[in-house]
Amino acid sequence: MYSWKTTKDILSRVRWFNLAILTVTPSIWIYGTRTTPLRTETLLWSMAYYVFTMIGITAGYHRLWSHRSYNASRFLQYLLIVMGASAVQGSVYWWARGHRSHHRYTDTPLDPYNAKRGFLYSHIGWMLIKPAVKPGHADISDLQNNDVVQWQHRHYFALIAVVGYLLPTVVAGLGWGDWWGGWFYAGMMRITLAHHSTFCINSVAHHLGESPFDDRKSARDHFFSALLTMGEGYHNFHHQFPMDYRNARKWYQYDPTKWFIASCAAVGLASHLRVFPENEISKSELTMELKRLKCEQDRIRWPPKLEELPIVSWETFQWQAETRRLVIVSGFIHDVSDFVDKHPGGERLLLKKVGKDATAAFCGGVYDHGNAAHNLLSMMRVGILLGGVEHVNTVAPGERLRIVERMSE
Ligand SMILES: [Zn+2]
Ligand SMILES: [Zn+2]
Repeated sequence: MYSWKTTKDILSRVRWFNLAILTVTPSIWIYGTRTTPLRTETLLWSMAYYVFTMIGITAGYHRLWSHRSYNASRFLQYLLIVMGASAVQGSVYWWARGHRSHHRYTDTPLDPYNAKRGFLYSHIGWMLIKPAVKPGHADISDLQNNDVVQWQHRHYFALIAVVGYLLPTVVAGLGWGDWWGGWFYAGMMRITLAHHSTFCINSVAHHLGESPFDDRKSARDHFFSALLTMGEGYHNFHHQFPMDYRNARKWYQYDPTKWFIASCAAVGLASHLRVFPENEISKSELTMELKRLKCEQDRIRWPPKLEELPIVSWETFQWQAETRRLVIVSGFIHDVSDFVDKHPGGERLLLKKVGKDATAAFCGGVYDHGNAAHNLLSMMRVGILLGGVEHVNTVAPGERLRIVERMSE
């Protein structure tokens, strides 16, 4: 355990290399905006190279190596691992290990980007300060045995020098003579934006949006986070079904990473795209929907429970009906005193039934009352008639699909 008591301790916890990368890169970009005009060719090149970089992270680092959500040919593996290196976010070996801990220990101190420590910590703080507790253990034996992953890990710094910094500069320099533009925009601006786009998956996607599949963890679904992160923003879905190659399950949801993987499969570069059974996805969705409906149900007032009602003999009912306006329907005794003048069929019809069994009249004899009337009537229950009348409809229509929480069988 570290102590924050002295400056020395604080300085010993700073991850100086990460701090340098994450401050120097945007500083150079900002300096570039003041010295070098952004040319249209360079802007288009930066945008294209940004997409290239991000697909390396989302389709490669994340969905292929962290989650094994599909199989990639060797060509695609090399392509993605080089694309991912251009983001300057560490080797996939390091990245995927942390990400697996994040999934396994979400929202706990063992989660390297624990969202419970706040938005800033989950966005960038975790990379700048060494954690007091090391990230939880995750199985990375497959990554240890993957020669493409190990090749990138060994040559990581050479790779980022070439694809992170040199290539974007050289293409703009040789292509249209904009060496400085290539360096500042296709290099520094792109890396900065790719950094923060990826960081948003740990911050924005754990704070903004809905939990349509499970609300026990902080991961959320939101179109805005998907827009920021090449489709990784359907994060509640992703945390529930991490081996699914999709983050957005519906065709109209924004997930360019999913489209990229599906396109690779279409041309034979990817195979075995994993999809979680739709039945199980629907079950999770329904569970959350029922939970929401249960909250609504609990806000509504319902009729008294059967066991709360007294059982009354016919004679007692008759005797009490002389002083209260009591009517029997389906074996229940109802006190209609407060309702007589509100009866849509008129006061007279109702008063005629006081002290009597009005089941037949209520259920079609005079008028076949609808759901609303049955529900309202059930709120007027004051007792159950002993023996005499069989209970026809003990459950009011509004209660027939009632959601009941079952703790165990
Ligand atoms: Zn997450
Ligand atoms: Zn993930």
